Amino acid sequence: MLKQPRNSHKFGCSSAFGFRIYLVSLEPNTFQMPEKVRVRFAPSPTGPLHIGGVRTALYNYLFARKHNGTFILRIEDTDQNRFVAGAEDYIIEALQWCGIPFDEGPGKETKFGPFRQSERAHLYGKYAEMLVDSGKAYYAFDTPEELQKYRKEVESQGNTFIYNWENRALLKNSLSMTEPQVSAIIASGTPYVIRFKMPEHKRVELFDIVRGQIEIDTATLDDKILFKSDGMPTYHLANVVDDHLMEISHVIRGEEWLPSLALHYQLYDAFGWTKPEFAHLPLILKPTGNGKLSKRDGEKLGFPVFPLSWEQSIGYREAGYYPEAVVNFLAFLGWNPGDDREILSLKELVESFDLDRVHKAGARFDPDKTKWYNHNYLQQRSDIELVQDLKKHTELGLDSFSDAFLEQVIRLLKERADFALDIWTQGHYFFVPPVNYNEKAAKKHWKDDTDALMGELLDLLGGLEDFAAPVLENKIKAWIEQKGIGFGKIMAPLRLALVGELKGPGLFDIMELLGKQESEARIENAVRRI
Ligand code: GLU
Repeated sequence: MLKQPRNSHKFGCSSAFGFRIYLVSLEPNTFQMPEKVRVRFAPSPTGPLHIGGVRTALYNYLFARKHNGTFILRIEDTDQNRFVAGAEDYIIEALQWCGIPFDEGPGKETKFGPFRQSERAHLYGKYAEMLVDSGKAYYAFDTPEELQKYRKEVESQGNTFIYNWENRALLKNSLSMTEPQVSAIIASGTPYVIRFKMPEHKRVELFDIVRGQIEIDTATLDDKILFKSDGMPTYHLANVVDDHLMEISHVIRGEEWLPSLALHYQLYDAFGWTKPEFAHLPLILKPTGNGKLSKRDGEKLGFPVFPLSWEQSIGYREAGYYPEAVVNFLAFLGWNPGDDREILSLKELVESFDLDRVHKAGARFDPDKTKWYNHNYLQQRSDIELVQDLKKHTELGLDSFSDAFLEQVIRLLKERADFALDIWTQGHYFFVPPVNYNEKAAKKHWKDDTDALMGELLDLLGGLEDFAAPVLENKIKAWIEQKGIGFGKIMAPLRLALVGELKGPGLFDIMELLGKQESEARIENAVRRI
């Protein structure tokens, strides 16, 4: 009969991760800066990078730049089952687009490389064996079916099965077998894994820069597999070995890795290696604040969750966001500079950033705020830059319009635009004459005498040589005054004729830009059609 963790409920409070932590104190985050700052972003190429991953990369980048350190990209691809073709290229392209390039990584080799774990696969076995030799790890021969059977047995009694001190003596491993038995089973070619021998009862004190001191009792932690039967290391072993070999000074990663910290601490101790500092970044939460932001939230509410498009999912780049805006809003998801500035360039972010201002609480994602950031960065762009941005939307067929014309349209509409494409959607009538007229507005403003008034206006316009906005304003206003009618009687139908509805920038600016011929044609059209 197997033993179960009878007292598991008594070990501190349950965390979101199903393991128990003791928050001992929330002391000020004090840590010593090592001489050389080396940080890494270590994604697994299992798909596109979620913006949470981009934020992790960004914080690593900012921290490295701030401390004249090195930012490394390490591809953690030891799990061949989860490998997705194209994901690594995607990650690299996304970092490039964001303007946060890595200093060392695939394609940027140094003495610390290679930077793909699959290319380092030969390295890890030796480290796993070292731990077996020193008694910190052991071989386990249980087949998945056997483990499943044990698990069922334990669960049928309403308990949870954990492969650790409580059960390991009853399972098939080098701790429960004699040495000759172990040698024989290995010699027979039976597949095995190497598991970490988690101490039975040990209080481990962890320090996280964001969360302060954390204390964990190892009693409820399991004997994690370090080395798999396929000859590949698991995440835990490869990650710790590489952080050591690559001389990583600070591990900055998502909060979902906090449950692994106790194991990682013990691995460093088992190897006798100096530990890096750790900082676990808060989760990015749904717009409602309830739970982790997911791909589905983006689909439901219509905002991107990926930096670049991936399959059916649109990326920030393709949705018309500027990388500066994305970087800026990501920086603020879990951090702030401690003053009321919100618009910070990458350079300013580097200057202001530090880990001691990273928040503990999850950061609620606000899609409107991302637009607000983009709006701000759009306003900083010159008109000619915006012409280029707009022309990137080749589907609009803007090639027949001159840059000078586009610049003028942009000048009139820019202030209200969040995206370059807004210039098109809000100023559609600059490029295509209205076909339909807002019905409600037409009913209200196109009166019985409007046709005649528009005819008179056409006569007036026909006599004008100069079609500049101030001239138009002068002449038209003088004519209206002279007729002794209200401005609205002319201006509203005129706007309807030119724009199709009662919106848009100054009417005389619109007329100047459309030019005499086009303005006249539109008025004639409206007279015919309304
Ligand atoms: N490969 C892990 C991931 O996909 C890395 C976690 C870490 O930074 O330690 O996020």
